[in-house]
Amino acid sequence: MKFIIQLWLFIRQEISTLAFEKWIYETPEIETFLGSELYLKLISLNFGDQEKVNAFKVEIWDWLSTHYPDFIETTYGRLTTPWEPVRFFAAKCRSCNTEFDLPLLSDFSYGESIFQSELGNYFNYCCAIDNKVWDIVSGLIHEFYWDGDYWFIFAACADRVHSQNMGLLPRCPHCQSHSVDYSNKTPTRDGHIHVASFRTFMNLAPAEQLSFIKKTCALTRLSD
Ligand SMILES: [Zn+2]
Repeated sequence: MKFIIQLWLFIRQEISTLAFEKWIYETPEIETFLGSELYLKLISLNFGDQEKVNAFKVEIWDWLSTHYPDFIETTYGRLTTPWEPVRFFAAKCRSCNTEFDLPLLSDFSYGESIFQSELGNYFNYCCAIDNKVWDIVSGLIHEFYWDGDYWFIFAACADRVHSQNMGLLPRCPHCQSHSVDYSNKTPTRDGHIHVASFRTFMNLAPAEQLSFIKKTCALTRLSD
């Protein structure tokens, strides 16, 4: 059971890649649990390569869902994948000319957005439909005057990723400039990004949630 939990925490980004890697080396019994094929992939994984780590997480997720569907369903509710498949497109920073990939949603997407971390190197997917956090946040915004984009506030309520606050696209991962040229014309690759979580925000008392949102709205207005 502890193996499943540890793998799950890793998939959900609830423990760092570094902590997970350390755990792997301290837990040789995991070989018997995973089977030699998957174990070999795990120990030869380059943990410094975020793309490879994410691809491996998808594989572990498939494996867990196949072998332990009941555990995941009863412990974590509805069996939903914690990733969203997305397409990346070519983007270029106007400030420093760095070329990079940006995940974009289709023109037909509705009620969805992609968050990007403050240093520009991590992404989260978020869907507002049937999302109780969205309902809470928009309810709190209605308590005072706010004419901006609700997604700005919603992104700010998302859990930090690798200690970085989340915001909306786009941002250059090299110089963090928002001045970026991009379009959904030149796809570069397909990938998976994590679905945003809101644990920290949801653990706040309602009064704290309201004051957090008020502060975020004020800061967003100042930076306009
Ligand atoms: Zn730049």
